[in-house]
Amino acid sequence: MSEEDRLGIDELAIKGGLPVRKERLQYGRQTIDRDDINQVVNFLENSNYLTTGPTLKEFEELICKTSGAKYASGVSNGTAALHLAMMAIGISQGDEVIVPAISFSATANCVLYCGGSVVFADVDDKSLLIDVDSAISKITERTKCIIIVDMCGTPAPYQKLWEICESKGIYLVNDGAHSYGVQTPLVGSYADMTTFSFHPVKNITTAEGGAVVTNDDDLDARVKKLRSHGIETDYSEREEKGSHVYQISELGYNYRLTDFQASLGISQNKKIKYFLEIRNQIAQIYDTLLSDKKLGLSDLVEPLTKPEGHQSAHHLYVIRLKLENLTCDRNTIFKALVAEGIGCNVHYIPIYYLSVYQKLGYKKGICPKAEDAYQRIITLPCFPLMTDEDQKDVVKALKKVLFYYKK
Ligand SMILES: *Cc1c(COP(=O)(O)O)cnc(C)c1O
Repeated sequence: MSEEDRLGIDELAIKGGLPVRKERLQYGRQTIDRDDINQVVNFLENSNYLTTGPTLKEFEELICKTSGAKYASGVSNGTAALHLAMMAIGISQGDEVIVPAISFSATANCVLYCGGSVVFADVDDKSLLIDVDSAISKITERTKCIIIVDMCGTPAPYQKLWEICESKGIYLVNDGAHSYGVQTPLVGSYADMTTFSFHPVKNITTAEGGAVVTNDDDLDARVKKLRSHGIETDYSEREEKGSHVYQISELGYNYRLTDFQASLGISQNKKIKYFLEIRNQIAQIYDTLLSDKKLGLSDLVEPLTKPEGHQSAHHLYVIRLKLENLTCDRNTIFKALVAEGIGCNVHYIPIYYLSVYQKLGYKKGICPKAEDAYQRIITLPCFPLMTDEDQKDVVKALKKVLFYYKK
């Protein structure tokens, strides 16, 4: 008898059976190839600059081309990009900013950095995108900004919110950390400011890195000033004038992106279309398998929905469990999948569940649809270097685990 027969391949790994994979598949990771390496080596051999210099400008021009925005500022990470966006529009004590309850915590933390108050809007439980009616119902005289999040790479429903924001003098900021590269609608075109992250799991990477894009020259100038201590002139102006004099009239930070990282960004940016195509193929395969009646998974899980006409970057592939047809909760399924060697994740815990927010007095129950969705969601591995075999393993493990816990 083979080892597999003896242990029984169908026994769940979490109960002592053989796992689908010996080595755990990650849920996301970077794609670095020879071109990226050559580009960075070439930069280090030839550039006079390591930090802010001409290579950053070149990367920023590419970010403008990819996102469709007029101006781009490369910054040290996506969280810094959000902080700078909040500073640029002048968020301070007494201001309210509406933030969807399901996102990475940085989407809300950036408001607290500026002394503002976070007001959580519910999300649509089927798409995890901001619930437009909930967001509108949270607007008060103190609302200064609404942040939308392109969850999983899918542009949020922005039209109605932007119209309302324009009529009331409220800023619309898009946390586009997941949607860099989306062309329909063009990712840098549906908010006053859009922020990106170039963390390794995101659509392109500079290790740590991010950007703020906008069509507004005043907002752009503020971001560029505040990312470098609040200094009024930039390095090239001072260099040109041969002057040591500088002025700071408003406190800024050191949130610069280095030229060294920008060189990697330039090389990565060449492949953004290709990265999104592969992500799309992976998502299509999941969609097809999950809805295949013969396979039998469609009674147990469903993919997220998307607004009509919105392309997705498929930054994350999230499934919703149909808990009514299962005998256990999400955490049990999650642990069983991890035991099978499938590195899943949960995106995200409602932000106000985090103790920093609980201590500020946010009560559970304020965004019921976000809370219900949170009980059901699991993120499956989805990244360009994932192979067909990897994806087959994910589906195999899903079937194994879900059929075991099927009612
Ligand atoms: C990754 C991420 C950020 C923060 O980006 P960092 O570069 O990691 O600081 C912000 N918002 C969302 C939705 C993210 O996924």
